[in-house]
Amino acid sequence: MIPFIDLKTQYHGIKEEIDAAIERVLESSQFALGAEVAAFEKEFTAYCHAGNGIGVNSGTSALHLALLAAGVGPGDEVITVPFTFIATVAAICYTGAKPVFVDVEPRTLTMDVGRIEEAITERTKVVLPVHLYGHPADMDPILDIAARHNLIVIEDAAQAHGAEYRGRRVGSLGEMGCFSFYPGKNLGAYGEGGMVVTDNRDFESKIRMLRDWGQESKGRHLLKGYNYRMEGLQGAILRVKLRYLKEWTEARRSHADLYSKLLVDNNIQTPLSMPYGRHAYHIYAIRLRRRDAVVRALREDGIQCGIHYPIPVHLQPAHLDLGYRAGDFPVSEQAAASELSLPMFAELQESQIKEVARSVRTALSTEEV
Ligand SMILES: *Cc1c(COP(=O)(O)O)cnc(C)c1O
Repeated sequence: MIPFIDLKTQYHGIKEEIDAAIERVLESSQFALGAEVAAFEKEFTAYCHAGNGIGVNSGTSALHLALLAAGVGPGDEVITVPFTFIATVAAICYTGAKPVFVDVEPRTLTMDVGRIEEAITERTKVVLPVHLYGHPADMDPILDIAARHNLIVIEDAAQAHGAEYRGRRVGSLGEMGCFSFYPGKNLGAYGEGGMVVTDNRDFESKIRMLRDWGQESKGRHLLKGYNYRMEGLQGAILRVKLRYLKEWTEARRSHADLYSKLLVDNNIQTPLSMPYGRHAYHIYAIRLRRRDAVVRALREDGIQCGIHYPIPVHLQPAHLDLGYRAGDFPVSEQAAASELSLPMFAELQESQIKEVARSVRTALSTEEV
């Protein structure tokens, strides 16, 4: 069996350090926030080339608080993409604002920058691009449009730890960058976690208050806040794992190169990495016709794969109230019908990559007859 992701093998490779980190937290009894979280905030923020980081309890909370810090609320509009994980859109809805979608562009499946301006109204407050699969959105035109229209840019970098745009780390490009440390992400906690990084001191202090019940000082609540604190255990675990992130990202990138070499085929669209970006390959996404038949064949060969995502958010039953219909975002809809995610994790073996590639190609050739 070839798993889609293998967290256990990763743990065994770093077990001693992880176990020691967990014990430190147990001994300190700092289970919510505390010194480990504060240290992780500093270390991850430095990794992102950003000024300040605020640890929270999920990537969704990071997005929610970043939007609140930007002043987003009922009556406002936030421009984002429909081809993303549902959390991007859920976080906008939590604030009472309305998500306004622009389609993705076909090469990278990130925000189509040519469609942003037509979506801007006098209610627009924020543009929220997603660095999907670990590939950066084309940030320069996004930042340029936002500056001209006085909009705040919040990056959804939940899939893109360590990805770069023109030599700069994602998360540090817009006013705020939001990360997830969900276990399956490139940098994953042993539980839930997230962070907002920002160079802006006002956003930082607001988010720090909001994550901990809006407290300005002990017992004095300046804002209506939330219980979105990062756990001490997750901070300590993430500090250990951060030390390996560079190595793990390199491994992902070389696995992706090998996949792409082995999957040269007219019927397969392998992922493109634009010259402006450095892909972090959270997901190795190919696109093909007859995707569902290939999924079945892989399953029969004992290979786990995924689909990210089978239904774009504008067609999700939960968001039909937004009033979008099939046909509104053809690139997203086409991607949802053709995308296939192959096994991808740092510890993946060359022999496993070869086996997956062989299985995909065999499935395609038998499908053709
Ligand atoms: C995972 C993810 C999130 C949400 O992060 P959680 O930690 O699961 O709340 C948001 N956006 C994208 C694109 C994601 O992949």
